[in-house]
Amino acid sequence: MDSDCLFCKIVSGDVPAAVVRDRPRTLAFRDINPQAPTHVLVIPKEHHSSASELAQTDPGLTAELLLETAAVAADEGIADSGYRVVLNTGSEAGQTVFHVHAHVLGGRRMAWPPG
Ligand code: AMP
Ligand code: ZN
Repeated sequence: MDSDCLFCKIVSGDVPAAVVRDRPRTLAFRDINPQAPTHVLVIPKEHHSSASELAQTDPGLTAELLLETAAVAADEGIADSGYRVVLNTGSEAGQTVFHVHAHVLGGRRMAWPPG
């Protein structure tokens, strides 16, 4: 636990969140500022700063995180229509919370390439 980290505080319950899936090593909750009808964040409960750091440190947990994005999509009813998984990595990519999180976005048609 990183005491300065917002998402660690969500894991510990110190900051409330709309949790949609709670698994032993991962947590999924609704983004507070949704960019699509479904916008859920999936995080490892353990603090890892980025997708890159997580992948290098714990490949098993990286796979679990990706599996959970698929489970969220199924739960939300967007697995067949399609959805986007986004892992912003670093400030220029738009990462603002440095506890790795996969955005699961769906429920509307999405533009490509992203802005
Ligand atoms: P990123 O810009 O990829 O680091 O994404 C951070 C995301 O966290 C943004 O989409 C925010 O809207 C979201 N966010 C920030 N604070 C909270 C919160 N307390 N609960 C849920 N989502 C949050
Ligand atoms: Zn954290």
